[in-house]
Amino acid sequence: MKPNMDPRMHSAEHILNQTMIRMFQTGRCFSAHIEKKKSKCDYRFDRPLEDDEVRRLEDKVNEVIRSDLPVNESFMVWKEAEKAFNLERLPGEAGDLIRIVKVGDYDACPCIGPHVLSTREIGQFRIGSVSFEEGVLRIRFRLSP
Ligand SMILES: [Zn+2]
Repeated sequence: MKPNMDPRMHSAEHILNQTMIRMFQTGRCFSAHIEKKKSKCDYRFDRPLEDDEVRRLEDKVNEVIRSDLPVNESFMVWKEAEKAFNLERLPGEAGDLIRIVKVGDYDACPCIGPHVLSTREIGQFRIGSVSFEEGVLRIRFRLSP
């Protein structure tokens, strides 16, 4: 994870992950490529998404963004955090005190990356394409201000 990652894109990634969990029980993405202009997240899944599912997914992410939820951080010791969260994707240098990033009461996730202060800063979330190959659902997305 790059520390200079775009805060808007990366915050959108958190919301997309929680929305994928709630709608499709995928778990969080196992791989992500977050860039200022466009990003992609890969999820383990068993089928492609239907067009109307893609639309509903995009709508739900935008609904969360428009709700203007505060993005807060709190800290937990590793031993406590590992009971509540999967820490596999945290880099080793995360240290013994784990930072938990919360998007309102919608999402909570251990993370060292940069975030917006409230979700409205993210802007409009747009899914560019969703592809499915060999058990991997890849979602490409952009943001407009
Ligand atoms: Zn994060």
